[in-house]
Amino acid sequence: MIETEGLTRHFQAGEETVRALTDVTVSVAPGEFVAAMGPSGSGKSTFLNLIGCLDRPTRGRYRLMGEEVEALSADRLAELRSRRIGFVFQSFNLLQRADALANVELPLVYRGLRRGARRDRAAMALAAVGLGDRLRHRPSQLSGGQQQRVAIARAIVGSPDLLLADEPTGALDTRTGLSIVSIVQVLNRAGMGVLMVTHDAEVARFATRVLRFRDGRLVGDERQEAADAAAMLAALPPQDQAA
Ligand code: ADP
Ligand code: MG
Repeated sequence: MIETEGLTRHFQAGEETVRALTDVTVSVAPGEFVAAMGPSGSGKSTFLNLIGCLDRPTRGRYRLMGEEVEALSADRLAELRSRRIGFVFQSFNLLQRADALANVELPLVYRGLRRGARRDRAAMALAAVGLGDRLRHRPSQLSGGQQQRVAIARAIVGSPDLLLADEPTGALDTRTGLSIVSIVQVLNRAGMGVLMVTHDAEVARFATRVLRFRDGRLVGDERQEAADAAAMLAALPPQDQAA
């Protein structure tokens, strides 16, 4: 699903060259749950943005779902991105004036789906993340964990093959973060590929594979037995369950 070869992204900042990512060669198969780890500034977000085609490499090759990204027209790339990839960020990035349903519906507007069909699919996506009873709430009326669940619903409403998440639990307390990872794990088990950036080893335990970055280089690539997030959540004392 993802194949990179010598993927490199350097930024020119005045006289200085910032080597954000250098020579990353990696392949990810459909349906994997990959955690990208590393300290702050190690190139994780730069890697994720390249994988999501939000940025272009300085050099190196990238094939996404069998397509050479560099060779795609802007239109074809935009279509590939909107149909096959879902994005989730640390800061939720929801429209504050719109309710949950309208936020989740938004990606479908660009697909020319009729209003009724959009609403139905958005409601289903919200139900899938446990927010079937919060369709009309605005972000300000929801907790941080609930807002991130709306963001996940928005990311998955178009049934992408790949979910990209940059520190999705970064703004949440440990328990709420666990509930978010649990949702991601359920989606992955249903077949969705996941690439999740995190600097938190506790969160990376739920992935089936861990990539480690340091100073813009890929320095580790290990498969692991994933811990079960739902089981860990269920084992928490009831009064401490995430909102
Ligand atoms: P991480 O997500 O692991 O914290 P990043 O990928 O965001 O790291 O950044 C890697 C390095 O590249 C950092 O030194 C960062 O300051 C630099 N960097 C990232 N984006 C830019 C940019 N647009 N311009 C200049 N430098 C950047
Ligand atoms: Mg980052």
